[in-house]
Amino acid sequence: MAEYVTEQKKILKKLLEENCDSAYTIEELIDKMRINADGHVPGKSTVYRLMTKLVAEGTVKRFVRGNSRKFAYQIVMGEHCDCHLHLKCMGCGRLIHLDESVSDELLDKVKSISDFSINEEATVLFGSCADCKKDKAGK
Ligand SMILES: [Zn+2]
Ligand SMILES: [Zn+2]
Repeated sequence: MAEYVTEQKKILKKLLEENCDSAYTIEELIDKMRINADGHVPGKSTVYRLMTKLVAEGTVKRFVRGNSRKFAYQIVMGEHCDCHLHLKCMGCGRLIHLDESVSDELLDKVKSISDFSINEEATVLFGSCADCKKDKAGK
C-alpha cells in the first residue's frame, strides 16, 4: 500500500512540475491524472492527503483561488527556476514563472541603464495576477 501511495505522489509531483505555471484544485488534479494515468486514479481523499503532505514538505504551495474559497495547489519550484524571474500575486499568492527570454531582456535592460546585476533567484516582483484583477473589476 505504501508503495502505491509513493507512486501516486510521484505522479502528482510530475504533473505539477510539468505545469509549474499553473495552480490546480484537487478536482482539477484528479481530472488531469485521469487523462494521463493508465486507469489507476486515486480518490479525492487520497489526493488531498498527498497534497497536504507535499505542502508540509514545502514542495507545493496552497492558496485560495480568487474569490472562490477553493484551494489551489502549485509547485514551489519547477526546473530552471534559477534562470528566470518570478511574479508573485499579492491577491492569491500565485507564483508566475516569467518567460526566460522576457526575464533576460528585462535584466539586460536594467544592467545597460544602471550597470546593476539583478539576482534572478532572489528577486520576486509583486503585483496582481489576471484572475485577481478580474475579481476586483467584477465587484
Ligand atoms: Zn520558476
Ligand atoms: Zn492572484
